[in-house]
Amino acid sequence: MAVFELKNSKAVGDLPLQCRDVIKRYKDEGMFDIDSITDGKQEYTTVYFLMTQDCNLRCAYCYQPKEFRQKGTGITQDVIDSTMDWVSRTFDERKIKFSIFGGEPFLNFPMVQYLCDTYCMYRYVVTTNGLVLLENQAVRAWVLRHKYHLNLSVSISALRSVLGDDYLDKAQAVLDLVKANGGDVHYVVDDPERPGIYEEIIRLYEYGVPIVRVSSARHWDMVRDKNEQFKDLFRRIADYVYFGGQPKFGRSQWDIALKNNIYRKMKGMPLKDVPPTFCGCGYLYLAVNNKGEIYPCDFFANYPEFKIGDVRSGFNDTAFFFKKMGEWIDELYEHCRECEVCFDGDIRCCPRAMCLAENYTVTGNPLKPAPNHCWANRIETATYEYIARKAIETGVDRFYYKGRA
Ligand code: SF4
Ligand code: SF4
Ligand code: SF4
Repeated sequence: MAVFELKNSKAVGDLPLQCRDVIKRYKDEGMFDIDSITDGKQEYTTVYFLMTQDCNLRCAYCYQPKEFRQKGTGITQDVIDSTMDWVSRTFDERKIKFSIFGGEPFLNFPMVQYLCDTYCMYRYVVTTNGLVLLENQAVRAWVLRHKYHLNLSVSISALRSVLGDDYLDKAQAVLDLVKANGGDVHYVVDDPERPGIYEEIIRLYEYGVPIVRVSSARHWDMVRDKNEQFKDLFRRIADYVYFGGQPKFGRSQWDIALKNNIYRKMKGMPLKDVPPTFCGCGYLYLAVNNKGEIYPCDFFANYPEFKIGDVRSGFNDTAFFFKKMGEWIDELYEHCRECEVCFDGDIRCCPRAMCLAENYTVTGNPLKPAPNHCWANRIETATYEYIARKAIETGVDRFYYKGRA
């Protein structure tokens, strides 16, 4: 007998429990435990260097509360060296990736330089708003010289607030650098009704930026109040990317719509055994701050209670995060029972992993989804559903799989 019925759907069954079983199985295999991080079972772990928590912009849609952006938080040479020591002592180095992160990491350019020059055998991705790059030709030249191991991820739309509506004209040097070094630009749509957004995004594609990621702002009531407008805009962009001539595979994060569970369900294929929530904090991601403290990720690094170790002394296996994760998992998905968002009422089709730190910030419980997350998920669900359905109807999905065969 069905334990409950998901609202507005034909799906029945104890979906949260099914999904929880999967997570528990991962946990039994070591996820969220200290050994899982160090035993090398997972494909890779990304270590985030939090170069500084300061930022030279104050985007209204920043994914973290503005109180977290603080001065005097620059990482030091000593912490960088200790982190690299700890990494080589603790991990299989072939399975480690490095991310240069902030705040705005180029505000601490001397340490970015020190890291990449000293440990030049590794590859790095720098996530930046691009402003320092734009203002400082010498920094751009340095980045270009390091293109053999330095990719960029530029939050391009952030620049509008300081450069004005013609910011893309003014930011050309940064776009050229992304093209030269490789990487992506991230366009966060704050207001889907702002004139010119569609044209700006198309322009980024036409200019040849390798990957253009488009997403909705998450912290605004706007994802609720303008939900339909977001969906319309994203469908138009998807039409341009996939259905207006040669599909631009490999240039958008939306390619995932051709392989995720929404697509699989439409095709009658077995669903992937991965429910929502699988964000990977403290498992696939670790962050090191300016004091050398280790956290499950960059966002959790703002919460001292989530500290899981120190690069000088290693992991603390009695840390709150490791102890509590087991208990929290028992509550996982309880709050998704009422989900009215997911395709076919099936939470395994939830398009985006919950951000546990965002949940903690908004609801006080890392496993209770923040309402803004689910409102943003409505937009993603509609976008993925649109792409999958149209790709199946037009045969674009076959073209995608042929290209990958
Ligand atoms: S540039 Fe990034 S970190 Fe800085 S305020 Fe904007 S969204 Fe936040
Ligand atoms: S949309 Fe929200 S409520 Fe629904 S499954 Fe995803 S996280 Fe849970
Ligand atoms: S908790 Fe949020 S910020 Fe941290 S890794 Fe998960 S999704 Fe990313």
